[in-house]
Amino acid sequence: MHAEPRASRFVQRLGEGGERRIRVSFEFFPPKTEEMEKTLWESITRLAPLRPNFVSVTYGAGGSTRERTHSTVKRILAETALTPAAHLTCVAATCEEIDAVIRSYCTAGVRHIVALRGDPVGGVGERYAPHPAGYRNAADLVAGIKSLSDVEVSVSAYPEKHPDSPTVEADLDMLAAKVDAGAARAITQFFFENDLYFRYLDRVRARGIDVPVVPGILPVQNFKQTKAFAARCGASVPDWLAERFEGLEEDAATRKLIAAAVAAEQVLDLVDRGVTDFHFYTMNRADLVYAVCHLLGLRPSHANGALPLPAGERVGVRGVG
Ligand SMILES: Cc1cc2nc3c(=O)[nH]c(=O)nc-3n(C[C@H](O)[C@H](O)[C@H](O)COP(=O)(O)OP(=O)(O)OC[C@H]3O[C@@H](n4cnc5c(N)ncnc54)[C@H](O)[C@@H]3O)c2cc1C
Repeated sequence: MHAEPRASRFVQRLGEGGERRIRVSFEFFPPKTEEMEKTLWESITRLAPLRPNFVSVTYGAGGSTRERTHSTVKRILAETALTPAAHLTCVAATCEEIDAVIRSYCTAGVRHIVALRGDPVGGVGERYAPHPAGYRNAADLVAGIKSLSDVEVSVSAYPEKHPDSPTVEADLDMLAAKVDAGAARAITQFFFENDLYFRYLDRVRARGIDVPVVPGILPVQNFKQTKAFAARCGASVPDWLAERFEGLEEDAATRKLIAAAVAAEQVLDLVDRGVTDFHFYTMNRADLVYAVCHLLGLRPSHANGALPLPAGERVGVRGVG
């Protein structure tokens, strides 16, 4: 007997003209070189027809990185129909300087900001010290943004706890403070074990936090890099994941197939368990993300004539969001 996975049935219904229920957002980082800029824009161009809910652009330490974020966000606004979400951190800037950035985004037409504390200037592992005249933390920044404009604000969430946080409870307190200050959505740090996400979501809901908590999905473009990054941001890398990439150091083609299989398995299990919204850490590369979105039933809008999303509809986790 042929038993189709629930996720496939769900995705199939979407393909039959049902209400579009899967929603995705894509995260990019500002390019440093002309070549990286070209890759980024090829990726944006490839992913745009999937009609993401929004595309976000990260924000780094240092003036030149920040300038690149601003110019990338502004170019997305000028040259695409996408909704950009500009990341913004509290690091090494006064409230006045940050407020000027917020105002300039609003003037340019940005309607969505991802508000973050950011990492210490000395790098992850150093003790974070707020700028004496700056926003103290992400909740403070959310309040600052909301006092200047009614833009949509998303914030971070950590299914495995932020490394600076003494306890999961302290983490949840910070998430609650960010939501109380006006955040409409949390986007999680990436994770590879879906149970971690659902356990965290239970705790978030038990804490009375009711905004959507959108899972951040990182297709593993480069396992070694992912492992190093995970160690810095407190995300665990299960042994089974390491085993899947074992021995493929010199075999990029197979690595890519494995990466697509791993990400597909993860998102389809999330769909099976009621998740409808996904935030993809694209690393500025389109193909793995495009393939996973295809599996999720998303098609370029010119191919299926899909209708725009109903205005004002909130993203959420079906059944739990
Ligand atoms: C979706 C997403 C997008 C991101 N985008 C960017 C980006 O564009 N640019 C960038 O630089 N980084 C980015 N980051 C990383 C983020 O800046 C770091 O994880 C940073 O260390 C924390 O910022 P936050 O807003 O997540 O922290 P918060 O939510 O403010 O805090 C996280 C946890 O740390 C605890 N904590 C905070 N400060 C202290 C303290 N001083 N002492 C003890 N505990 C403390 C809080 O209680 C909370 O539990 C992103 C992370 C995510 C999940």
